Amino acid sequence: MLSAMKNSEVAEILYNIADILEMQDVAFKPSAYRKVARSIEALSEDINELAKKGKLKDIAGVGESIEKKLQELLTTGKLAYYDKLMKGLPKHILDLMEVPGLGPKKIKVLNEKLGIDSLKSLEAAAKAGKIRELEHFGEKSESEILKGLELIKGGRQRMLLGEALPTALEIEKKLKKLPEASAVSIAGSLRRRKETIGDIDILVASKKAPKVMAFFTKMPEVKRILAQGPTKSSVIIENGMQVDLRVIEKNFGAALQYFTGSKEHNVAVRDIAIKKGLKINEYGVFKRKGNRLVAGKTEQEVYKAIGMQCMAPELRENAGEIEAALKNKLPKIISYNEIKGDLHTHTNYTDGKNTIVEMVQAAKKLGYEYIAITDHSRSEPIAHGLDEDQLLFQIKEVKEADRKVKGIKVFTGSEVDIKGNGELDFPDEILKKLDIVVASIHSRFKSPKELMTKRITNALENEHVDIFGHPTGRMIYMREPYNVDLKKVYRSAIDNKVAMEINSQPKRMDLNDVHAKEAKEMGAKFVINTDAHTTSSLGFIQLGVSMARRGWLEKKDVLNTYPLKQLPKLFRKVRL
Ligand SMILES: [Zn+2]
Ligand SMILES: [Zn+2]
Repeated sequence: MLSAMKNSEVAEILYNIADILEMQDVAFKPSAYRKVARSIEALSEDINELAKKGKLKDIAGVGESIEKKLQELLTTGKLAYYDKLMKGLPKHILDLMEVPGLGPKKIKVLNEKLGIDSLKSLEAAAKAGKIRELEHFGEKSESEILKGLELIKGGRQRMLLGEALPTALEIEKKLKKLPEASAVSIAGSLRRRKETIGDIDILVASKKAPKVMAFFTKMPEVKRILAQGPTKSSVIIENGMQVDLRVIEKNFGAALQYFTGSKEHNVAVRDIAIKKGLKINEYGVFKRKGNRLVAGKTEQEVYKAIGMQCMAPELRENAGEIEAALKNKLPKIISYNEIKGDLHTHTNYTDGKNTIVEMVQAAKKLGYEYIAITDHSRSEPIAHGLDEDQLLFQIKEVKEADRKVKGIKVFTGSEVDIKGNGELDFPDEILKKLDIVVASIHSRFKSPKELMTKRITNALENEHVDIFGHPTGRMIYMREPYNVDLKKVYRSAIDNKVAMEINSQPKRMDLNDVHAKEAKEMGAKFVINTDAHTTSSLGFIQLGVSMARRGWLEKKDVLNTYPLKQLPKLFRKVRL
């Protein structure tokens, strides 16, 4: 006997039909098939049961012609219409649908113009730089295709916080607009602002879960529905990320606490609860005797019931926060609106995209009191580093921008290379003309540990250096940190009054939380910078602040939270 097809298998075939029809430029039909595919994915009943009861037409979107096809498929396990469509198609072309960002229309163009008909030929064309030449594609989509291919090859990889967060906030915002949702929050590692994220977890408080689920699974960015249940649904969205939504009817605080994690934090909290005769889970805090609910509405209530302070999600890693919370001694970590200026930015003088004035105006829009323009120095040929004359010329323009744009102070500066021998890329008489000097390593990453440490401390000893840029050089998933004795580096930075940078570029996030905490405990000071190369990436500052929060940094530890008039005290060369 024929084994019955699963709902997901039927849906898959309908999705494929939709994709093929769309590649053939057929109008309307693709969306009709897609709608039915989604309805079938969202069914709580076995589609074979519906067929037996003659109820296929009850499935949203099913008309006469699709009903016939479904019947054929469910009784014979085959569909002549589908086989015919597939026959005219290169064998592996539908695999391309797995690539985030590629849909039937784009696949059709790729096939017609470049003969691409499989993941293999797609990769070859992208690597040869052929895709960027196509209309509507460009360099960015080519690199996204390559990234997508990597994702497929390596199984699902974790995403950078900087990639996941904007998407998640967008979805959160939409859910917040639902009248049925009385509370909405991102949960999980994303709420804790971990530097990489597996799935996006979102919690909604509502008494009308089906409505919330229906809205969620029908959002335009949803590419596939993995599961739709009464309290939990999972979807894959356009960029390849999985989003899990849970609807909670009551005691939202307990659920939020539970699903925010981390696991290690929750285990430790649970142990403390047990010692106090309590039980804690996603439904609330209960007295063990009699199972009476004592807390659950808010997270504050939950932690209070266990006898501890409620702490920011960024601290919940069982890294000392529980002990501190029990003693009422949590640090008052920096908040997201306390940054007063950015001290590491680039312009179109080197590898940035915007002019000085554009960067300054964008910084002003963020409400900043100051910004430093710190383009690359001459040893950075790839980034078109400035030589001395170019820098002197730029200084004039920066000062002009400072005069021209009112309401924000513009500092002159440079991101000066630390050379292999620990010398800086500009002589002292040039460096002393600048307000802010960021010293960074951009070459010879593989120096042995002792040499690298010496190279860095040597540079930090130069009296003109204010900030040590992206201190470990790591690039998440791309480059390991330098082999360096960080404790010696912190020591040198402290002794020489150099601030350690927390670089907010999504791939850098450098220093990381653990290192920042370590450096703070030794007495280091910090600046949180974006290293922005465009006006829009000034917004990355939120990522850097989240790393600082995870590293227990307080406002007073971060020099660019201080108002403009206090900067001359904090940086040697800054004069107002
Ligand atoms: Zn740099
Ligand atoms: Zn930079």
